[in-house]
Amino acid sequence: MIHIGCHLSVSDGYKAMGETMLRFGGDTFAWFMRNPRGGKAKPIDAADAAALNALLKKEGFGALVAHGSYTMNLCAANPQTLANGRDMLREDLERMEAFPGNFYNFHPGSHVGQGTETGVALIADALNAYLTPELHTTVLLETMAGKGSEVGGTFEELREIIDRVTRKEKLGVCFDTCHVWDAGYDIVNDLDGVLARFDDLIGLDKLCAVHFNDSKNPLGSHKDRHEKLGLGCIGEAALKRIALHPALQGKPFILETPNEDEGYIKEIAQVKGWMMGNEECVMRNA
Ligand code: FE
Ligand code: FE
Ligand code: ZN
Repeated sequence: MIHIGCHLSVSDGYKAMGETMLRFGGDTFAWFMRNPRGGKAKPIDAADAAALNALLKKEGFGALVAHGSYTMNLCAANPQTLANGRDMLREDLERMEAFPGNFYNFHPGSHVGQGTETGVALIADALNAYLTPELHTTVLLETMAGKGSEVGGTFEELREIIDRVTRKEKLGVCFDTCHVWDAGYDIVNDLDGVLARFDDLIGLDKLCAVHFNDSKNPLGSHKDRHEKLGLGCIGEAALKRIALHPALQGKPFILETPNEDEGYIKEIAQVKGWMMGNEECVMRNA
């Protein structure tokens, strides 16, 4: 069994997200640690955080996957942007201590013309500065679509970052199905081959979470446009094989599909239906 949930808004607080996910039928979720366009992060209400932690435990949730800001670029060329990104990482990891034992994923960064090697070195440098032994969070590098100068569009680049990080036990990877497909990894016709390649280069023990999305574009398009499950180029049969793959059981799967609440409720039921091996039950829930 995998854990399934979707990205939620934190606007009503932390316990409210747990309650929303129970209502949606899921048992994990993601949220942005701060406004995705950046800015100062709101302090976390300790009582609200404790209430969420109690609810997660009581309801048997899988690990949560908080998402770093899109504006956090740990390999920016502009010194101020770089410093801001490093501050965001440090602050986000401090704030994550309110939710011990969960994941924090982020986009490794864009090297903006400095080259992949420089990008990799700068990202690893930031991680080495803020991944401390005291941390109760595992930090996840997200697999990227390889758009523009993004770092992390290949498993090799992710491995190069991991190689340079001292506290590897605090570091893992979030496998985004839309991104890996757009990056050119054929998870439709050769899922086992792609996972074997991941295992060779990074190790499947480092694959901690999945962003579960269909893609609007064909293999290798480098576009990064998510689609609803089954309506894109990856398709339902391949997505089902991913959700049921033995190597991915027990992991949190986060939907980042273009949906409103009703669409997420439907997709969560759809995935749970695959797990139950009873697709008729999904039709009735839909
Ligand atoms: Fe992401
Ligand atoms: Fe993602
Ligand atoms: Zn994306």
